[in-house]
Amino acid sequence: MFTYGVNMTAPHLTAPLTPYPYDAPASQALLTRAAAVTPGGVNSPVRAFRAVGGTPRFMSSASGPYLTDVDGREYVDLVCSWGPMILGHAHPDVLAAVQAAALRGFSFGTPSENEVALAEEIVARVPPVQQVRLVSSGTEATMSALRVARGFTGRSTVVKFAGCYHGHVDALLASAGSGLATFALPDSAGVPASSASETIVLPYNDVPALEAAFAAHGDRIAAVITEASPGNMGVVPPLPGFTEALRRVTTAHGALLISDEVMTGFRCSASGWYGIEGPYVGGAPDLFTFGKVMGGGFPAAAFGGRGDIMAMLAPDGPVYQAGTLSGNPVATAAGLATLKGCTPVVYDRLAVVSRTIADATSAEFARHGIPHVVQWAGSMFSLFFREGAVTNYEEARAQQVQAFSVFFQSMLSQGVHLPPSAFEAWFVSASHDDAAVDRVLAALPVAAQAVSDSFATISS
Ligand SMILES: *Cc1c(COP(=O)(O)O)cnc(C)c1O
Repeated sequence: MFTYGVNMTAPHLTAPLTPYPYDAPASQALLTRAAAVTPGGVNSPVRAFRAVGGTPRFMSSASGPYLTDVDGREYVDLVCSWGPMILGHAHPDVLAAVQAAALRGFSFGTPSENEVALAEEIVARVPPVQQVRLVSSGTEATMSALRVARGFTGRSTVVKFAGCYHGHVDALLASAGSGLATFALPDSAGVPASSASETIVLPYNDVPALEAAFAAHGDRIAAVITEASPGNMGVVPPLPGFTEALRRVTTAHGALLISDEVMTGFRCSASGWYGIEGPYVGGAPDLFTFGKVMGGGFPAAAFGGRGDIMAMLAPDGPVYQAGTLSGNPVATAAGLATLKGCTPVVYDRLAVVSRTIADATSAEFARHGIPHVVQWAGSMFSLFFREGAVTNYEEARAQQVQAFSVFFQSMLSQGVHLPPSAFEAWFVSASHDDAAVDRVLAALPVAAQAVSDSFATISS
């Protein structure tokens, strides 16, 4: 038994003697009901399982490392709400903080102490962040960071990288036009060409492409925004020197560097990806964005950075930004309790759990001769069904996505809930105890066999 100071009260899942059926009648019934009143029956597209097929599982409860669906089946959760549940579901300390906060009222519409404490915690953990402003989602954080960067520089163009996701901000839902250093095309209906035309999309980890874009348009570029270590095309960490090249080139042209740590923040390390790769030669990013872990499962996110840049924000400066629920007392209580719970012992456990699961998965695939590569950012990892390292989006897409679907369905039927896309990171929590990890390992041989069989079918 581990003693790592986190939730050990979760009931251990009992392995089904036979796999769960592939159908899920109660979830299917809810999906039908949901689809009548909500587009696709979901409130965020990835939840619909379109990439992997089958019925998305509607969950009724969660505790520690486990999810329970409306058909009464338990799953080891390797999504962890896409990151926030770093301590495990319904962690007692976070629950107590939320209950105490809720008893004092839900939203004041005035400043309150929790907001100050959460901001202090973020500033203390990430040294280049001198000031933060709290918002309610990662999307709001990146949208607002762009606005500050544009207000500060007086420029309007932004550079982003193909495969990096920064929420559903108009200017950032853009995909690369043809050729280097060209302006982007909208990646979604409803995004005006004029929004996307202020965005330049470049291949990730490509310094010459960056230099070419700045040589052509440097005097118009307000900022480069990048995922600190991308996790939204699968895990594709920056090659050595890439982040520093971003810093060097932006500084040379008077542009800002925005590090989007919404996914990596407080997960890859106590101070996020910055804690792993920083401090940087040439200086830190000017602005950072945070979300996911810092909300502890509630809607709380933040953007922050250099004091002179953040001073541009209203009410001190001319850049407007606001939010009815920003700094919500219950959400900030959850976030603060979660960050306080993220002790060294928690990060050690995340490392052990993620390494154990990734190594076992890789070994099982190797045994079947299934081409794959595992990539890492702290305890975040993902698995690509292809040979060779993945350094950008084009390479990430050159994988056997069909193999992932087969793998996903087999794991799901055996009580393991993976992210429902080949282009997502896997997330573990510190509450993943040996029983939960063993359950994942026990499901791997059957799932790897299923993938191997599917390859045989494809090639025959
Ligand atoms: C999840 C994510 C966002 C968007 O956050 P939401 O809270 O979903 O709006 C932005 N950037 C990155 C890197 C993310 O992973």
